[in-house]
Amino acid sequence: MYPRLTINLQKLKNNLDAVAEITKKQGGCSLMIVTKALCADPEMIDLVSRHPAVDFMADSRTRNLKTYAGKAKERGKQTVLLRIPMECELKETVAFADISFNSEPETLKLLNEEAGRQEKTHKVVLMIDLGDLREGIFYQNETEIFAAAELVLKLEHLELYGIAVNLTCYGAIIPKHDNLSLLCQWAEKIENKFGIRLQMISGGNSSSIYLIERGELPEKINNLRLGESFLLGNDTAYGTKLPGTTDDALILEAQIVELKEKPSLPVGEVGVDAFGQKPHYEDRGIIKRAIIAIGRQDTDPDSMEPLDKGVDILGASSDHMILDVTKSEIPYKVGDIVSFKLGYGGMLACATSPYVEKGYLGS
Ligand SMILES: *Cc1c(COP(=O)(O)O)cnc(C)c1O
Repeated sequence: MYPRLTINLQKLKNNLDAVAEITKKQGGCSLMIVTKALCADPEMIDLVSRHPAVDFMADSRTRNLKTYAGKAKERGKQTVLLRIPMECELKETVAFADISFNSEPETLKLLNEEAGRQEKTHKVVLMIDLGDLREGIFYQNETEIFAAAELVLKLEHLELYGIAVNLTCYGAIIPKHDNLSLLCQWAEKIENKFGIRLQMISGGNSSSIYLIERGELPEKINNLRLGESFLLGNDTAYGTKLPGTTDDALILEAQIVELKEKPSLPVGEVGVDAFGQKPHYEDRGIIKRAIIAIGRQDTDPDSMEPLDKGVDILGASSDHMILDVTKSEIPYKVGDIVSFKLGYGGMLACATSPYVEKGYLGS
């Protein structure tokens, strides 16, 4: 059935080998693989949990962690909840994550109570915001950072496992030696003030990996959390390809349901499209237009690239995507399949759409 997302497990394994080589061998960091962008796909999980270089398996959703916490534990990987836990999911947080990322004192107190109820010691990583302005205690707020650390140390069912930063997600701030050094300074300040040693100083996501290759990752950073670089082979700071990775481990295929020659400009007064946007059209004359049976419910048309270079994506509504196949050398007909590489948004959407079938290669 189509649309179909084909996951090439051999290529994913190669990507995992490549990012492990950079992160662990060259960077001296532990490796946390982030599973959310493929919606914790079970075959991918199997591959990651078997890989000897993986230390932690992380997701932003407790629902995803629940599906693989048992397997991860069996294979010696710690599980991590990346998104600050909702108060309504603290039970699942303690049950399925060994470690969670936190920034709110109230949540920490409730988390401690829940860990007590489940007779567990739950590990806490405090998020520090270095200016990307998503989650974390703002790095200039010394009082709040020390108070949070002290609170975790005081709560008897919690362990202060480390501190972490997230960058290049909301504010698109690029990790550098300078800003990551601030995280290291905070680690030292906390260690000195409380006479402890932090296990994890986590220096970010796939946008931090380029610093290793440049030799600019501060010494004290000892963990990176990688999703996109593993799945798509991207350094997400500057969009370069990481050595040894491929960008076609995931391929989206969709079927042509209509193929007609029509003008490239619509006829009549232009209002707004199905998503309230005023469309912009380019006059290409009469073109060969293919409609494939996939849409914004399943993917992001701005985050996919046809393997056939002669195909252009013109746009999409909920269930239809319109392609210009005029310049293609392939004589497309109704029923043919068009294939795409994916970007982060496209991958995320089609991995979570119940309408997209999943298939595997190379297992
Ligand atoms: C999603 C996420 C990651 C992984 O990001 P990638 O860019 O896919 O590597 C890491 N850390 C946190 C907190 C996240 O939310």
